[in-house]
Amino acid sequence: MDNQQKANGFSRRDFLKNTVTAGAGTLLVNPMNLFSQDVNTNNQHIMGKNIKSKGYAAKDNSGKLSPWEFERRPVGEHDVLIDIKFASICHSDIHQMKGDWGPQQYPQVPGHEIVGIVAAVGSKVTKFKVGDRAGVGCMVDSCMECDSCKHGEEHYCENGKTVFTYGYPMKDSPTGISQGGYSNNIVVRDHFAVHIPEHISFEQAAPLLCAGITTYSPLMNANFKIGDKVGVAGIGGLGHLAVKLAVSKGAEVYAFTTSPSKVNDIKSFGVKEVIVVDNPSKLAPFKGQLDYMISTIPVQFDVASYASVVKPNGFFTQVGMPVGFQLTLSNIGLAGSRVNFNASLIGGIPETQEVIHYCADNGIYPVIEVIKANQINDAWDKVLNNEARYRYVIDASTF
Ligand SMILES: [Zn+2]
Ligand SMILES: [Zn+2]
Repeated sequence: MDNQQKANGFSRRDFLKNTVTAGAGTLLVNPMNLFSQDVNTNNQHIMGKNIKSKGYAAKDNSGKLSPWEFERRPVGEHDVLIDIKFASICHSDIHQMKGDWGPQQYPQVPGHEIVGIVAAVGSKVTKFKVGDRAGVGCMVDSCMECDSCKHGEEHYCENGKTVFTYGYPMKDSPTGISQGGYSNNIVVRDHFAVHIPEHISFEQAAPLLCAGITTYSPLMNANFKIGDKVGVAGIGGLGHLAVKLAVSKGAEVYAFTTSPSKVNDIKSFGVKEVIVVDNPSKLAPFKGQLDYMISTIPVQFDVASYASVVKPNGFFTQVGMPVGFQLTLSNIGLAGSRVNFNASLIGGIPETQEVIHYCADNGIYPVIEVIKANQINDAWDKVLNNEARYRYVIDASTF
């Protein structure tokens, strides 16, 4: 498939067609692996009862996790219970557990790149049936009634009812907050789970639930044309997917990294050029050259210098979230080219489903390393030291 076909080959209509599901709705088939104490689990046995869960939690803001057993809410009529197979590690997990974005309630289980198999469905669920492959990303609920929610932009809920996957107040959670995916199961409203097609592995699908949609949504919104010059700054978990997505959509991609050791990897992703930015002067030759740029850099950096590589009146999107959510930037630096600076969070549920199908259909896979639960703390250190290549995926059978 050439780039033109790739760019045009997946329409919203295909997406809708692919995601029409047939589900009887009320089945529950023997999730014995979840309830070893309940060998004869059946519908009556489980419905209405809290779900036992185990995983790894932060107990304080030290940035270290340890095993924890807890309970989730019962499976409600609109809920699905997912037996988690893999959950991957996002830099946001670390930021939030360390309190970088504000004080947290502990214990708290991070993780918002979650995939597994549906083990139970509530009586009114039609989107899934038991045995389906499913994923959960950055949010688990919203008002479902406002314009944003109705139009698949649940993360922009106008009533402020978006519930993010971990650490958010949640009345019906036994712990009082949402608890994330570094665990063996999750209960989630069916709307906020997406289908994982058979032609992508669970391990490869997991990072798409945050890193994939967080970069896909602004890239699609940028509406660049085939052959346009697109820059990606910060080539980690998010950035390497941004590169692969932009390349697959036909862009001429320029990757900006501070890690010389990543150059060969990045070249293999199909970029036009890799620029090692060991000092800001490396950006100067590109001033005003690019049509669009996305930055995944999750720490303070020289925004205006990076934005200056975009053509005057072009767009620059920041998706990395630094400590305190704060970035400082040189006003005169930005004014020098009138580049439009915007920031982007994640993407809505329909678009999350779309990126998963797009990646599965076009063979766009994250570069991953599968780890066991007891390697999470080491993996977090490596993420912080820019040593991740490029996403750690936790095997949930090791919790
Ligand atoms: Zn994330
Ligand atoms: Zn809403």
